[in-house]
Amino acid sequence: MAFVKPNTTINEYQNFVEEVYGLSNDRYFSLWDMITNMERFTMRGLKGIRKGNKEKTKINLLLSISWFASMMNQLHINIEDEVWKRFPYLCSYCGLCPCSCKKEKIKKRQKVIINENKRPKTLKDFQNMFCEIYLPQTRTIEHAGVHLAEEIGEFSEAILTYRGQHKDEDFKKVALEAADLFSCFMGVFNSLGISIAKELSIMFSHNCHVCKNAPCTCSFIDITRFES
Ligand SMILES: [Zn+2]
Ligand SMILES: [Zn+2]
Repeated sequence: MAFVKPNTTINEYQNFVEEVYGLSNDRYFSLWDMITNMERFTMRGLKGIRKGNKEKTKINLLLSISWFASMMNQLHINIEDEVWKRFPYLCSYCGLCPCSCKKEKIKKRQKVIINENKRPKTLKDFQNMFCEIYLPQTRTIEHAGVHLAEEIGEFSEAILTYRGQHKDEDFKKVALEAADLFSCFMGVFNSLGISIAKELSIMFSHNCHVCKNAPCTCSFIDITRFES
């Protein structure tokens, strides 16, 4: 049986997604199909923000994150490594913790120095790290949601560019944008005051959250029509 523990690492969670959904992703879905699924659940999550429906936002963004992990598996990008390289307990832009981009009116991306000793261990530790870099009390949840939408757009653009010519430098951009996008998922959950790891452990306590099998045996129609 496959499941996500409350103290899961990002790597363990990414491996869980591969174990449960790798097979049906390979058979049913191209990268474009997966990005569409990721986007549609994010948009449902944003609708939850507009309607003040915390539960709707939570469920749909958890599903979106899982589609994101599926895409990262297909591209063989290690989420945890990319996130840590981009956000080593510092804002990727101003290089400070907490982020002072606004206060200091930073116009140019600063060089960040990685201190391996500070690397968080679990997904929960990473979420806490983002809570310290980007203080949720300094912005509204709507602001966090708009930022998430922006990053989905930038990630999609990076995929589109990479798919055009399959250049290595464009692939690196996909990995960077993936890290930025992941940070924005964290940002919305920090605004909600919800632990992603805890909620994933509830949703994925026993294989696929719908069919309860590993690998998942949900049909293509079931998956594409799934709503929450
Ligand atoms: Zn900053
Ligand atoms: Zn299933």
